[in-house]
Amino acid sequence: NIFPVSVIGLGNMGLAIAAAYLKAGYPTTVWNRSKGKGERLAAEGATVADTHAEALAASSVAVVCLSTYHVVHELLEPLAGELAGKVLINLTSGTPEEARRTAEWAAKHNIAYLDGAIMAIPPMIGAPEALIFYGGTKAVFDTYEPMLKVLGGSTTYLSNDPGVPLLYDLALLTMMYGAWHGHIHAHAMLKTGGISAAEFLPYADSWLRYLITPLLTDPNGAKALDDENYTTDVSNMNTNKLALDHIIRTSAEMDINADWLTPIYTLAAQKVEEGYGADAFTRIIEGMTSKK
Ligand code: NDP
Repeated sequence: NIFPVSVIGLGNMGLAIAAAYLKAGYPTTVWNRSKGKGERLAAEGATVADTHAEALAASSVAVVCLSTYHVVHELLEPLAGELAGKVLINLTSGTPEEARRTAEWAAKHNIAYLDGAIMAIPPMIGAPEALIFYGGTKAVFDTYEPMLKVLGGSTTYLSNDPGVPLLYDLALLTMMYGAWHGHIHAHAMLKTGGISAAEFLPYADSWLRYLITPLLTDPNGAKALDDENYTTDVSNMNTNKLALDHIIRTSAEMDINADWLTPIYTLAAQKVEEGYGADAFTRIIEGMTSKK
């Protein structure tokens, strides 16, 4: 079932999205604020619209991938009447609240709406492993699932709450930034200590593969978090507080900025002070949420 699709926004991601629809045989109309970005797509058969209004008029399904929700609203709000009765798939990143407000706006104007979160980079678009989360009306997802799957084989509907995909997205991203920041900090220490990244690589690989990934993806660990069970006989709060102290002091001795660890150290120290020294490190979650 092939039908016309319009892609609004031809940034790095929008270009990959439009290319995937063209490749899959969907008649594709594209629009971008800065002109010229659609040229390569035009050569592949895309129709390049002069205005976003023209692009939206060309199809009953629009895929929007812009820099922010602010831009999405700036462009689409004046065209709410024209979009009534159509399907809007918003793959722009933002916050869960922004997604919910946009879904409410769409519902008010009789626009069928899905909010999506792309957990992939542009070269992965169209690949079986490309993970894309969706939230919003399930019936809309079910109807358009084959078309959505053109962008990623791991297309997943999560919830009728349109904010949930971005909650998952931000949870995965904060895991990424935690790991990435640790990686950069590690290399600041190693470099200062005269060790090259290449020399260290096999050990980073072993550490992540055999210890960290199993630790963070252990079903028993997930259950313990859900149950708020912070018992451990492996590695307790005291041990982790001391390890953090060693990293912070060594970084200071090496003249390396380790400020990012201070709040984590403080949370661990607080828990030790409260008498939870024998508990698992995961108990610091209590210091992050309102629950004390
Ligand atoms: P780019 O910066 O490459 O593109 C941004 C797009 O937004 C461009 O089309 C740009 O138009 C448009 N835009 C920005 N401001 C305006 C405006 N005021 N009016 C009209 N158009 C505007 O970003 P990406 O394509 O990489 O990202 C797009 C979305 O996809 C973001 O929300 C991002 O978080 C998400 N995403 C991106 C991933 C990636 O790896 N790239 C991964 C997962 C999600 P112009 O060309 O004229 O500047």
